[in-house]
Amino acid sequence: MDLKKLANTLIPDTDLLPLEKYEEIYPPRNLPRGAEVTRLAPSPTGFIHLGNLYSALADERIAHTTGGIFYLRIEDTDEKRRVEGAVESVIRSLKYFNVNFDEGAEIDSPLNKYGPYYQRQRASIYRAFAKDLIERGLAYPCFCTEEELNKVREEQTAKKLITGYYGEYAKCRNLSEEEIYSNLSAGKPFVIRLKSQGNTANKLTFRDRIKGEITVTENDQDVVILKSDGIPTYHFAHAIDDYFMRTTLVIRGEEWLSSLPVHIELFKVLGFPMPAYGHTCSLMKVDNGTKRKLSKRKDPELSLDYYRGEGYYPVAVVKYLMTILNSNFEEWERKNPSADYTQFKFTIEKMGRSGALFDLDKLNDISKTELSKLSAEEMYAFLNSWVQEFGSDADRAHFADSNYIISILNLIMGIGGKKRRKDIERAKQGVALIAYFFDDTFAPVYEYRFDKDTVNGVLSSFAAAYDPADDNQGWFAKVKAVAAEHGFAAEMSEYKANPSAYKGSVADVAEILRIAVTGMPNSPDLCTIMGILGPERCAKRLASAMEK
Ligand code: GLU
Repeated sequence: MDLKKLANTLIPDTDLLPLEKYEEIYPPRNLPRGAEVTRLAPSPTGFIHLGNLYSALADERIAHTTGGIFYLRIEDTDEKRRVEGAVESVIRSLKYFNVNFDEGAEIDSPLNKYGPYYQRQRASIYRAFAKDLIERGLAYPCFCTEEELNKVREEQTAKKLITGYYGEYAKCRNLSEEEIYSNLSAGKPFVIRLKSQGNTANKLTFRDRIKGEITVTENDQDVVILKSDGIPTYHFAHAIDDYFMRTTLVIRGEEWLSSLPVHIELFKVLGFPMPAYGHTCSLMKVDNGTKRKLSKRKDPELSLDYYRGEGYYPVAVVKYLMTILNSNFEEWERKNPSADYTQFKFTIEKMGRSGALFDLDKLNDISKTELSKLSAEEMYAFLNSWVQEFGSDADRAHFADSNYIISILNLIMGIGGKKRRKDIERAKQGVALIAYFFDDTFAPVYEYRFDKDTVNGVLSSFAAAYDPADDNQGWFAKVKAVAAEHGFAAEMSEYKANPSAYKGSVADVAEILRIAVTGMPNSPDLCTIMGILGPERCAKRLASAMEK
């Protein structure tokens, strides 16, 4: 068969360069020894998830701790799944978590010398290499219809054979020249398939940077390399791109492990050395006592938008992911509590080999701890940025008064006290936590453990006695006096010694006041809260609590 003629007929493009030219256009990168070039290669589907952040963080840390490059490539070969604005959303979402690209799609950088970074714009490179494979007898056109392929799959399934296009099932592999040209002149659509040279009887040893040594079976599938629209499949495109973009390390999900034999063969026939690969394990969660993969449908926490919407503190999410990415991160962090996580020596070898367990409770814990390290001003800035994007109109109006919010935060966070409090977990919850300081969002639940007369008696005596000029001690002396006046023990010790002699203790009186003023039975120091609210608001709240 005249393979040159066949290649020219199948790929008649006039814009293809001689293959050596691509070597010149994309020369090896000039980087220090040991520098790793990593990439994130998402499809622009608009759904950016925790798994993306998880591997992007590993990519970013490895590139930046070795003096390398981390770039963004958009794998947009599937036009149907493309969503407008998805690329910007990937960049924005990752930036929120301090994961920044050095180079790539939509990144403004002088380093952008290995583009275009959108696969659709690289069609001529893939087609040039596909054409070369046809010329070398390593690829061929396949005219099988979807229907025919389904039939073959059914037959293979019935015979309990491996499904796919291989061996005797690779019908178009052995088409004669006449058959090919007659199909072409009949206008039949075709794909280009690899003519696999492999044999499944052969086993190969592969060193995965995360999983360690693994044994893989040689590929014998004639996989599609160019689809009928002339656009490459992931397999073919990624091999060419990772070679010409001079990637040294591919970190990707373990769902790609099964395609590894195909990729090994593609690199071989293309004549490219393979980059190193590290296959990350899937993120799992415990659900009803059993471990399962995080799912897009069932778990909102899989989407990165969830973390921004809930107002997670980005450093906390990153630190949490670091704890699952590198088993020694937690210990390092314990020894270096105030160090920035970027000082940690991240290594791919310490990444887990099997199912990484994602635990939202642990993330919440880390988040509380991280937020408790902020000053009131920093917390204000963090909450305010969330409020501006995700808060209600009422929230935005409240946050216009920064002094008032900062005084609330000083109290809530226990700043200046003996122990910092860890009540704020994320912005959404933090903003809700301070809602009672504002009249329009004050939503009291008046549930007392005492009868209405007792409650009203306590409230009216305290309203009459309250003086905003009192210090904490003076304030508490008044609460005690009110307690004694209404049949409660003014001292805890008196109450404990003889509980049946009293309605309750001074603590119960404080609880009544707390419910009236804050709408809840638990809050930080009530005297300080009343100071922040101011005498007018306090008087109003005590009065309306008596009416209800
Ligand atoms: N586009 C592929 C994906 O989104 C990328 C896999 C890879 O990183 O090579 O799964």
